[in-house]
Amino acid sequence: MTTTRSRAERAAQARAAEAQLTADGIDGVVFGWVDNAGLTRVKSVPLAQLEHAAQYGVGALPCFDVSLVDDSFTTTPSSTGPMGDLRLVPDLDRLTPLAAQPGWAWAPADRYTQDGTPHPGCQRDFARRVTEAVERRGLSVRAGIEIEWVVADAAGDPATAGPGYGMTRFIEHSDYLREVLRALTGQGLDVLQLHPEYAAGQFEVSVAAEGPVEAADTTMLVRHTIRAVSIRHGLRVSYAPVFTEGEIGNGGHLHLSLWRQGRNLGNGGPGRHGLHPDAEHFFAGVLAELPALLALGAPSVASYLRLVPSRFAGAYRCWGLENREAALRLIAGSTAGQANAEFKCFDATANPYLAIGGVLAAGLAGLDAGLPLPPETRSDPATLDSVERLPASLPETADAYEKSALLRQALGAELYEAVLAVRRAESELFATHTDADLIEAVRWRY
Ligand code: MG
Repeated sequence: MTTTRSRAERAAQARAAEAQLTADGIDGVVFGWVDNAGLTRVKSVPLAQLEHAAQYGVGALPCFDVSLVDDSFTTTPSSTGPMGDLRLVPDLDRLTPLAAQPGWAWAPADRYTQDGTPHPGCQRDFARRVTEAVERRGLSVRAGIEIEWVVADAAGDPATAGPGYGMTRFIEHSDYLREVLRALTGQGLDVLQLHPEYAAGQFEVSVAAEGPVEAADTTMLVRHTIRAVSIRHGLRVSYAPVFTEGEIGNGGHLHLSLWRQGRNLGNGGPGRHGLHPDAEHFFAGVLAELPALLALGAPSVASYLRLVPSRFAGAYRCWGLENREAALRLIAGSTAGQANAEFKCFDATANPYLAIGGVLAAGLAGLDAGLPLPPETRSDPATLDSVERLPASLPETADAYEKSALLRQALGAELYEAVLAVRRAESELFATHTDADLIEAVRWRY
C-alpha cells in the first residue's frame, strides 16, 4: 500500500535515488497525475532539483481540477480560476527509469496544498483513502486494468489489416511488440499477456494484479510506455473508447479480487460459484451504484459509443460467470488465487484512481449494508427483457452520479463537484457533434 511520507522521508528517498539515477544516465524526472477528464498532466525537473521537489513539490495549477478533454476549463463554486497554487509531490516509492524515453524517469504525483496537506481534489489521495477504509475492515483488494489500444500509421489509419487475434497482425508488428514487452518488463512490470485484439489495429496487454493505488499507477505507466515505444516505431496510439465508427472499441476493464487473511473471497465460499458472503455483498454494492460509477469509469462522451450491446463492453447492469456482455463478468480462474470480478463497462478515458476508488467505496457500502447479490445472468443480456441497460449517454450517467450521496460522501464535496462539472461541461461541449465528429475530436486526446 502506498503511504504518504513525511517531508524528511521524501528528501532522504530523493538523495538515495540520485546516485542510481545518475548511474542510469537519467537527466530528469517527470511527475504525472491524471485530471478529472482522464488526461495525464505532467511537470518535470532536472535531477539536481529532485530532492527539493520531493520535499516541497513543484507548482501545479488548481484550475486543472476542472480541465476538459480539449484543454478548456469549466468552473465549480470552489474553483479559483487563475488564482492559487498547488504542490505536485512525486511518490518516489514508484520512481521508474523509462525504457522508451532514455534519460527520463517517471513518478506518479500526489497533489498537496501549499501548507503541505493533501489537496481535497487529489484523485490519488482519494484512492488511497478508500483503500485504507478497506484495510480497516481487515480486507484487502487486488486490482488490475486491462489495456487495449489501437496502433495507427502516420496518416492516422489502423497500422495493420491483419485479422483480430490474428498471427498476421502479430507478425507484422513483432519487433514493435517485442519492444513493448521488453520496455514493460524492463521497468519492473509483471506482464501477463500480450495479444492482437479484435478491432482494426488493436492490441491488448494485461499485467498482474496489485494493490489499488499501485494498480492505478501501473496502468498509467503501461500506457505511457506503450505510447513511447510506438512513437519510436513511427506509430501513433489511441486509447479512445472508439477508434473506428461502428466498431468494437478500446476497453479498460477493471479486474478486482477481495481478500481476507490471505484468502481470496471469490473462491471456496458457500455462495454462487464459491463466492464468500463478503464478496457477494461487495459486488452487489458495486452493481447497485454502477450507473453513477460510470461517471468515474466511463466518463467521456465518447465512452457511450463503445458501451453498447454486442461489443463485449458490458453494457448491461448484471453479473454472470464468464458472461462477456455483463458489466460484471465473474472469472473463476484456473487457481483459487485467480478468481476475480471483471468490470467490463469501464474504458481508458477513466482516471484510474477515481474508477478504482469509486468501485471500492461502493463495494464497502454493499458490504456494510449486507446487500444481496441479484440473480445471475446466464445468457446474453441483449436477449433478456429483464436486464437493465446501463446509461446510454454521459448526461444520463451524470444524472445518476448527481444523485449519488454515496459517491459525494466518498469523494468529498470538492472532488465530487469538480468531477460533476467536468462531466456536464464535456456533455455540453460535444452536444451537437455527430458520432463521426466526436470520434475525430477525441481520437488522439486519449
Ligand atoms: Mg480485450
